[in-house]
Amino acid sequence: MGEPPKNAASANRRFDTVLIANRGEIALRIQRACRELGLKAVTICSEADRQAPFGKTADSVLCIGPANAAKSYLNKDAIILAAELTGAGAIHPGYGFLSESAAFSEAVEKAGLVFIGPDASSISTMGDKISAKRAMIAAGVPCVPGPQTALPDEPASIERTAQEIGYPVIIKAAGGGGGRGMRVVSEAGALHEAIALTREEARQAFDSPALYMEKFLQHPRHIEIQVLCDVHGNAIWLGHRDCSMQRRHQKVVEEAPAPGIAPDLIGPVGLACVKACRQIGYRGVGTFEFLYEDREFYFIEMNTRLQVEHPVTEMTSGIDIVHAQINAAQGIPLELRQDDIRCSGHSFECRINAEAPESFLPSAGTITELALPEAPGVRVDTHIHAGYRVSPYYDSLIAKLIVHAPTRAEAMARMREALAGTRVEGISTNLPFLRALFEDEAFARGETDIHYLEKWLKQRR
Ligand code: ADP
Repeated sequence: MGEPPKNAASANRRFDTVLIANRGEIALRIQRACRELGLKAVTICSEADRQAPFGKTADSVLCIGPANAAKSYLNKDAIILAAELTGAGAIHPGYGFLSESAAFSEAVEKAGLVFIGPDASSISTMGDKISAKRAMIAAGVPCVPGPQTALPDEPASIERTAQEIGYPVIIKAAGGGGGRGMRVVSEAGALHEAIALTREEARQAFDSPALYMEKFLQHPRHIEIQVLCDVHGNAIWLGHRDCSMQRRHQKVVEEAPAPGIAPDLIGPVGLACVKACRQIGYRGVGTFEFLYEDREFYFIEMNTRLQVEHPVTEMTSGIDIVHAQINAAQGIPLELRQDDIRCSGHSFECRINAEAPESFLPSAGTITELALPEAPGVRVDTHIHAGYRVSPYYDSLIAKLIVHAPTRAEAMARMREALAGTRVEGISTNLPFLRALFEDEAFARGETDIHYLEKWLKQRR
């Protein structure tokens, strides 16, 4: 740490065609950004997505494999070959799929193409939660109390660590993701069994069997910081988001800024994130995720990619994050300085999912009728249309409803109106549940933590 940024002397990284290695709403979002920047956008698709709109609006499309994502959207070699065949100079991975694969970032750059995202070493440092925590502590980013090392094997030493932290503790897999590979332990008697189970899970599901232990926070909010970095050592943060409205660790509603957090409380945390980016030579956009409890921030992980919820920050900061990400990948120096960032108003995003209202199981099928809201301060990012067939193979996100207004209360009212003006027929969606949530008083007061939504759902049953 403390070395100069690794990418400072990057060679010419200019390109005129981008291959988008993704699907759905984000594929269209990235296409739009490419065209606005005067770049061509080519895309891949799976056999299940042959008729999908994102293929029709791209400059060209190559079907690279069957519906099974392992053989299409996750097929590194086929994607790189598709870029070469279509004359693309860069690959944008979107979110999900290969967006956080260090091996893919490396393979793309080895093939002489630009990976629109950070380099392999930043992705691996941040992909392992223990090394990420270590890098954050070195940069002065506040972390959850607990050692920055993997748990040893000796039972006595593990027990000592838990006692020092104080129960409840959480056991986490260093390579965990998607809310899996963690277990809460509330008393010493349950410690060793929890470790054995989590270790077995980590061994089977993740690259690394390493585990670590930290304090379990009981009523935190999920707050995150969006960063933007070029390859010349410039890094800024674009404000913060609150994503506490989660079900099974999946975000459902996001907002910017996080309500009730004073600028002088979050300001130093934002600057520490920026410092961490400079120290690891981070390139492009990324998100630092924190738990926030009793006026303290605790880093939990960094997402080294564009996030689903990036639009709420675009609405409040006025910055097009995908433009900025593509420009950074081209080696263009960041013109914005931290003082130029002026966030204004309030933004919400609702994730509209194709799922059954009670069971939350994905709901595939054909959309027979569709109405989407159109009004000032309302943005819809979606790939669906009337007649669109929602595929059972992929993520259930079908649209993102985003609003912006001068105050949080006005933004909530605008979202209520936008939700009322949205109609999706032919499949089940979570629209009824989103509408009810925007009538909830505790949510309106901004007093909800990461457990609120699950409790709220239980009460409604
Ligand atoms: P993943 O990579 O699987 O998303 P995270 O480390 O981001 O894992 O944690 C996912 C979620 O688990 C958090 O949003 C939070 O709800 C919960 N969590 C993780 N660490 C803690 C902790 N130390 N205390 C309380 N809850 C935690």
